[in-house]
Amino acid sequence: MTLDLPSSRLIEFTRDLIRIPSLSGQEEAVAHRIKAEMRALHFDRVWVDAYGSVVGIVDGAQPGKTLLFDAHTDTVGISPGVPWQHEPFGATIDGDAIYGRGGADMKGALAAMLYAAAHVDRASLHGRIVVSASTLEEVLEGVALKAVMDVTPPDFVVIGESTDLNLSRGGRGRAEVHLKTTGRPSHSSAPHLGRNAVLDMMKVIAAVEQIELPEDPFMGPAILALTDIISDPYPGHSVIPSICRATYDRRLLPGESAADVLGAITRQPGVQGIILHATIGVGEYKAYTGASLVCEKFFPAWLYPETDAYVAAALAGLHAAGIPAQTSAYRFCTNAAYSAGLAHVPTVGFGPATEADAHVIDERLRSDDLLAAARGYAGIIAAVLA
Ligand SMILES: [Zn+2]
Repeated sequence: MTLDLPSSRLIEFTRDLIRIPSLSGQEEAVAHRIKAEMRALHFDRVWVDAYGSVVGIVDGAQPGKTLLFDAHTDTVGISPGVPWQHEPFGATIDGDAIYGRGGADMKGALAAMLYAAAHVDRASLHGRIVVSASTLEEVLEGVALKAVMDVTPPDFVVIGESTDLNLSRGGRGRAEVHLKTTGRPSHSSAPHLGRNAVLDMMKVIAAVEQIELPEDPFMGPAILALTDIISDPYPGHSVIPSICRATYDRRLLPGESAADVLGAITRQPGVQGIILHATIGVGEYKAYTGASLVCEKFFPAWLYPETDAYVAAALAGLHAAGIPAQTSAYRFCTNAAYSAGLAHVPTVGFGPATEADAHVIDERLRSDDLLAAARGYAGIIAAVLA
C-alpha cells in the first residue's frame, strides 16, 4: 500500500482548521470545513451526527474490519495573561512550525488522519476506515465518540492525541469526585448549638490527604487533587453553615472503579462520625446542534500489554512507515476512556506533538511532525487493513 501525500495541501488544510476558532460547543464552523474537505478528498460517505461530530468513511475494495480514527475538533480557549508571540488563530508559519490554538491538540492530527485515509490505495484495502472528528472532548471525554461508535461500530480505534509520534497503549483516566458534609445550622453567636459543616469538611480533607494512592509501574501514580470548596449558605451571614461541598480531581489507573475511588474516602478512619456523601460528578454540556450530552464524570484508565496483537500490528505499521515509535502511555485522559476503557474495543494512540504542547500559549506543531503523523496513520492502516 503506497501513500502519495500532497504535503502542502495537508499543511494548508491544517492552517485552515487553526484559523477557525472552535471552543467546546462551538465547533460548527470547523465542522463545515472538515465536511467540505472530506467531500473534496472523495470520502465515500460523510455526515454530521446529532452532537455535531463529522464522520467520514473510506471503503476498501475488499470486505474486512473497521478501523476508526478519532480526533476532537474542540479546543481550549485563550487564557488571559501572558500574551502570545504569534496570533492564536493566525496559523503563522515560523521556522519549522505552525503556530496557533489547536495545532497540537489536535487539529494537526485530525488533518493528518483525513489525508492518510483519503490517500491509501483503496484497491488493496480490506475493510473500511472511519474518521471521527468529534466534539466536546475537552469537557466530556468519550461521550461524542460513543455516539459515533454506536453508528459505525469499529473493530479497532486510533486516538490521535499527541504522543510525539510514539504509540500509546494506555492512558490514565479521570473522575470528578464530589464530597458533601452535612451539619446543623445555628446562629453564629451560638455555634455550639449547631454543627459546622466546614469544620467537618476540614477533617475530611485531612483524612483524604492520608489516603495511600495506588501506583502503576508503567503509568505512574494515581492523583487526588482538591480543586474547590464552598460552604452553603454562601456567603454566610450570622449562620453556622450546615452544608459544605468540596471537589476533587482524581486521576485513575487501570482497574480502578468508581466504588474503589469513593470507598477509599468514606472508609478513612478520620471521617467516621461525620455525615459525608461522596459521589461522582455529573456533567451536562450542550452541543452546537442543540443536543445535550449528559454523563457521569468517571472516565476509566486503560492499558494493553506490549504483546497485544493490535498494539504489535500498529507498532509494526509505524516502523514500516519509517517512524521509529516506541510504546508509551498518556498521562492525561482522552476519548480512549470510552473506546478502550468502557467499550473495550482495542485502541491505541498516535499523534504529532507532545502532551506538553497542549493548552499552552504559542501552541505549535512542527510541519515535519504533521507529515510524519500522516505517514504513520497510513502505516497503521496498511498493517491493520491491508
Ligand atoms: Zn486533545
